Amino acid sequence: MSDHQTSYTINSTIGHLYLKNKAFQSLTFEGQQSIVLDIIEKFRYCDVNLGEILSNECFSEYKKVDEKRTLATLFKICSYCGQPKEQVTDYWEEYNKQGFCFDCAPELSLEE
Ligand SMILES: [Zn+2]
Repeated sequence: MSDHQTSYTINSTIGHLYLKNKAFQSLTFEGQQSIVLDIIEKFRYCDVNLGEILSNECFSEYKKVDEKRTLATLFKICSYCGQPKEQVTDYWEEYNKQGFCFDCAPELSLEE
Protein backbone atom coordinates (compact mmCIF):
# COMPACT_ATOMS: atom_id res chain seq x y z
CA MET A 1 0.00 0.00 0.00
CA SER A 2 1.30 3.43 -0.90
CA ASP A 3 1.71 6.19 1.60
CA HIS A 4 -0.77 8.59 -0.02
CA GLN A 5 -0.54 11.18 2.72
CA THR A 6 3.23 11.51 2.36
CA SER A 7 2.93 11.63 -1.43
CA TYR A 8 0.43 14.47 -1.32
CA THR A 9 2.43 16.27 1.36
CA ILE A 10 5.46 16.30 -0.94
CA ASN A 11 3.20 17.43 -3.81
CA SER A 12 1.77 20.21 -1.67
CA THR A 13 5.22 21.34 -0.50
CA ILE A 14 6.59 21.62 -4.03
CA GLY A 15 3.44 23.47 -5.12
CA HIS A 16 3.77 25.85 -2.19
CA LEU A 17 7.41 26.58 -2.98
CA TYR A 18 6.49 27.16 -6.59
CA LEU A 19 3.34 29.26 -6.28
CA LYS A 20 3.60 30.96 -2.91
CA ASN A 21 7.31 31.34 -2.23
CA LYS A 22 8.27 31.53 -5.91
CA ALA A 23 11.41 29.64 -4.96
CA PHE A 24 11.85 28.10 -8.39
CA GLN A 25 11.28 31.08 -10.64
CA SER A 26 14.75 32.61 -10.32
CA LEU A 27 16.38 29.37 -11.42
CA THR A 28 16.96 28.00 -14.89
CA PHE A 29 14.56 25.29 -16.01
CA GLU A 30 17.28 22.66 -15.55
CA GLY A 31 17.86 23.96 -12.04
CA GLN A 32 14.17 23.72 -11.21
CA GLN A 33 13.91 20.25 -12.66
CA SER A 34 16.96 18.98 -10.77
CA ILE A 35 15.53 20.10 -7.42
CA VAL A 36 12.32 18.16 -8.04
CA LEU A 37 14.29 15.13 -9.24
CA ASP A 38 16.40 15.37 -6.09
CA ILE A 39 13.30 15.41 -3.88
CA ILE A 40 11.91 12.37 -5.72
CA GLU A 41 15.23 10.57 -5.31
CA LYS A 42 15.25 11.34 -1.60
CA PHE A 43 11.88 9.66 -1.16
CA ARG A 44 12.49 6.84 -3.61
CA TYR A 45 12.85 4.25 -0.88
CA CYS A 46 9.77 5.35 0.97
CA ASP A 47 6.45 3.89 -0.03
CA VAL A 48 5.34 6.92 -2.02
CA ASN A 49 3.37 7.22 -5.23
CA LEU A 50 5.11 9.12 -8.02
CA GLY A 51 1.83 9.93 -9.77
CA GLU A 52 0.54 11.60 -6.63
CA ILE A 53 3.75 13.51 -5.96
CA LEU A 54 3.71 14.89 -9.52
CA SER A 55 -0.05 15.46 -9.73
CA ASN A 56 -1.83 18.83 -9.96
CA GLU A 57 -3.39 18.36 -6.52
CA CYS A 58 -1.26 21.11 -4.97
CA PHE A 59 -2.75 23.78 -7.22
CA SER A 60 -6.24 23.19 -5.85
CA GLU A 61 -5.11 24.94 -2.66
CA TYR A 62 -4.82 28.18 -4.57
CA LYS A 63 -8.18 29.33 -5.76
CA LYS A 64 -6.88 32.35 -7.61
CA VAL A 65 -4.48 30.29 -9.65
CA ASP A 66 -5.91 28.72 -12.74
CA GLU A 67 -3.23 26.08 -12.97
CA LYS A 68 -4.31 23.04 -14.92
CA ARG A 69 -0.94 21.42 -15.32
CA THR A 70 0.51 18.68 -13.21
CA LEU A 71 3.91 19.05 -11.58
CA ALA A 72 4.94 16.35 -14.05
CA THR A 73 4.30 18.60 -17.04
CA LEU A 74 5.53 21.70 -15.26
CA PHE A 75 8.95 20.22 -14.54
CA LYS A 76 8.91 17.74 -17.44
CA ILE A 77 9.33 14.68 -15.28
CA CYS A 78 7.29 11.61 -16.23
CA SER A 79 4.94 10.62 -13.42
CA TYR A 80 5.29 6.96 -14.38
CA CYS A 81 9.01 6.32 -14.96
CA GLY A 82 10.24 9.32 -12.98
CA GLN A 83 12.72 10.33 -15.67
CA PRO A 84 13.25 13.85 -17.00
CA LYS A 85 11.88 13.88 -20.54
CA GLU A 86 11.75 16.23 -23.48
CA GLN A 87 8.01 15.76 -23.74
CA VAL A 88 5.56 14.99 -21.00
CA THR A 89 1.89 15.04 -21.90
CA ASP A 90 -0.08 17.99 -20.67
CA TYR A 91 -3.53 17.80 -19.17
CA TRP A 92 -5.20 15.06 -21.12
CA GLU A 93 -8.81 13.97 -21.32
CA GLU A 94 -7.90 10.65 -19.80
CA TYR A 95 -6.99 11.70 -16.30
CA ASN A 96 -4.84 8.69 -15.56
CA LYS A 97 -2.54 9.30 -18.48
CA GLN A 98 -1.62 12.88 -17.72
CA GLY A 99 1.97 13.59 -16.92
CA PHE A 100 3.29 10.59 -18.86
CA CYS A 101 6.18 10.69 -21.28
CA PHE A 102 5.63 9.23 -24.73
CA ASP A 103 7.79 6.23 -23.90
CA CYS A 104 5.42 5.26 -21.11
CA ALA A 105 2.26 6.15 -23.05
CA PRO A 106 3.23 5.79 -26.74
CA GLU A 107 -0.40 5.92 -27.87
CA LEU A 108 -0.60 9.57 -26.80
CA SER A 109 1.97 10.71 -29.35
CA LEU A 110 -0.25 9.38 -32.12
CA GLU A 111 -3.18 11.55 -31.12
CA GLU A 112 -1.56 14.87 -31.95
ZN1 LIG B 1 7.90 7.80 -18.65
